[in-house]
Amino acid sequence: MIHSDCIPSHCSQVVVLGSTGSIGLNTLDVISQHPDRFSVFALTANTSIELLAQQCLKFLPRYVVVGNGFSAMALQQILNDNHCKTDVLHGIQSLQDVAEHADVDIVVAAIVGAAGLLPTMAAVQTGKRVLLANKESLVMAGRLFMDAVIRSKAQLIPIDSEHNAIFQCLSEQFVDGESGTQVRKILLTGSGGPFRTWSVKDIRRANPEEACNHPNWSMGRKISVDSASLMNKGLEFIEAKWLFDVEPSKIDVVIHPQSIIHSMVEYIDGSVIAQLGNPDMRIPIAYGLTYPDRITAGVPSLDVIAVGQLNFEAPDMMRFPGLRLAMEAADAGTGAAATLNAANEVAVEAFLAQRISFGQVTDILQQIMNTAHWDEPMDLESVVNLDGIVRSMTREAISALD
Ligand code: NAD
Ligand code: MG
Repeated sequence: MIHSDCIPSHCSQVVVLGSTGSIGLNTLDVISQHPDRFSVFALTANTSIELLAQQCLKFLPRYVVVGNGFSAMALQQILNDNHCKTDVLHGIQSLQDVAEHADVDIVVAAIVGAAGLLPTMAAVQTGKRVLLANKESLVMAGRLFMDAVIRSKAQLIPIDSEHNAIFQCLSEQFVDGESGTQVRKILLTGSGGPFRTWSVKDIRRANPEEACNHPNWSMGRKISVDSASLMNKGLEFIEAKWLFDVEPSKIDVVIHPQSIIHSMVEYIDGSVIAQLGNPDMRIPIAYGLTYPDRITAGVPSLDVIAVGQLNFEAPDMMRFPGLRLAMEAADAGTGAAATLNAANEVAVEAFLAQRISFGQVTDILQQIMNTAHWDEPMDLESVVNLDGIVRSMTREAISALD
């Protein structure tokens, strides 16, 4: 009975958007280790009803939100059978309603893809502490997202491991807004993914199981495919630009196969500060939940002797053109980034459904970036419209391949 252990005045009320996913599960794992500090206000998921029901019975949230009415009915039935009083809601408006509810302190934004944009923005606009895993929302909305953070005084804490590492390496400068003057460079690390050593020919014909077989991290399927193409590193490049207000020219991508250093910051005096740890998402999640305090997260000590070596190499833009496309989009602006993100989501979905090959994912992205036109979006509605237009274009481009 995690709920009842909480002393209300000291207990943070948490919404986990995307609670059945990889980040959602890790978040609930950390929360369950600290019943005195956290109470779950709402859980949300698209369609994983059985798992969501188990989570409701364990964490007793006030609300649970699912994608549609059918899922809501099925979930309601299970909860009724188990005498669970959680209110079952459905649809995008309900996601926003729980994210901006006045009783909520912390929102963990862990929905995958553009579907996370509006609920994450709702949490930002109402000044919550927002633990950002859903990088796509920041990639899509860029300046609009960060302006909303400043206006509402939301506490935006990245829990993408690299950005959380950078945040830890420059916390004070970041909070004081002085990062621009004292930081020489951000070194954004990445494992290189499952195809780091593969030839172009083998990469192009890789199948979904191979693409999702990440050497160091266990994650959802979309981010796993993005990690294999290095598009994930590209989205993270754009994410870093906005989060830390740095020029793209000050961000270097470094391939570090062991995933022990999660990123580094180089200062103008030549000092380089790195954050290290086992590759376990509970570390950044725990840090985000209680920053500036630290809590245990169930993560074993890092055994540096067993790790032995830390290696670094430059990314290969020829074998991984997705990274180049994202870096170009970072320079071109929010419209370009939103276009690339939308096309990527559709292309990755088609790859996972085995409609296109791995090589065709980046071919399609290149084609869309060459042919799409966009104006710089001035509001969220324009971002959502652009996302819809690019999705249709990408579906057409994929159909044309059949
Ligand atoms: P996942 O696929 O495991 O889980 C996604 C969650 O979002 C699920 O709960 C699902 O029900 C929900 N969801 C999916 N589509 C939805 C929709 N249309 N409407 C409402 N809910 C929907 O994904 P994940 O690996 O946990 O990743 C989540 C986010 O965190 C992504 O943006 C990813 O880039 C980011 N992230 C993940 C990791 C990781 O280790 N998994 C690391 C860094 C960043
Ligand atoms: Mg990451």
